[in-house]
Amino acid sequence: MQLRFVGCGDAFGSGGRSNTCFHVTGRQVNFLIDCGASSLPALKRAGIVRNDIDLILITHFHGDHFAGLPFFLLDAQFSRRTRPLVIAGPAGIETRLAQVMEALFEHSSKTKQKFELSVIELHPGQTKQLGHVAVTAFPVVHGDSGGPFLGLRVEAEGRTIAYTADTEWTETLVPLGHDADLLIAEAYTYDKMVKNHLSLTTLETHLPEIKPMRLILTHMSDDMLARLGALPYTAAHDGMMVEL
Ligand SMILES: [Zn+2]
Ligand SMILES: [Zn+2]
Repeated sequence: MQLRFVGCGDAFGSGGRSNTCFHVTGRQVNFLIDCGASSLPALKRAGIVRNDIDLILITHFHGDHFAGLPFFLLDAQFSRRTRPLVIAGPAGIETRLAQVMEALFEHSSKTKQKFELSVIELHPGQTKQLGHVAVTAFPVVHGDSGGPFLGLRVEAEGRTIAYTADTEWTETLVPLGHDADLLIAEAYTYDKMVKNHLSLTTLETHLPEIKPMRLILTHMSDDMLARLGALPYTAAHDGMMVEL
C-alpha cells in the first residue's frame, strides 16, 4: 500500500502547500483522507485518476479539509464518472456537504449524480467497514463550534494509518495512534501553544505512550516549516510518497 501526500498544508497555504489531502492506494483500496479546498488541482498536478477513487474520508468541516468536495464532485460529474463513490465523515456531513456545494456553485447540491454517491456518518468510538477499509473515528479537540472533529485510525491491507487531523493534545490520540504503522500528526507550531492545535513539543512528550512505528508531521505553520532542517523528524511535503 502507498500513501501520497497530495496536500499537507495548513489553512493558509503556508510554504505554498496545498490543503490537506492524502491519497492511499493498494491492491484493493483507493481512497482519500480529507479533501481540502485546493485538492482538485493538487490531484490533477499529481496525475491521480480521480475516477478510480472509491472512498473519501473527512475528518472535519473546515475548508482546508472539506471544501474540495464540491470541486471533486462537479469534476466527477463532468468527466462522466460511473464508479460509485462513498464519502464518510462526521455527523451532519450530508447537510454540510449540501451547504458548501450551494455556497460555491448554486443549485449544484440538487444535481443528481450519474454515479452512485453515498454519504455516510462516522461516529466517535465506532469502527465502520467501508469496502476493504476499516475506519475508527476518535473525538478530537479543535474548537467549540463547527464540529464534530474527528481523528481517524484507518486499517487496510494489514496496515494501520492513524491521522490526528487538527486538534490540541487530547488523550484520545494515544489509542488513535498506538502502534500504528504510520502516524500522521499535526505539528502546527514548534512550541508555541495555539488553541485547538498541536505543537511538536507537546506531541513529543506523548510519543513514548503512542509508540507509532513511523511518524510523519503535517499541517505546519511557517514557523514550523522554517525549523524543519534542524529537527530529527520526518515531515511531509506535497507529492511525498510513503510505502506501507
Ligand atoms: Zn486544518
Ligand atoms: Zn481545522
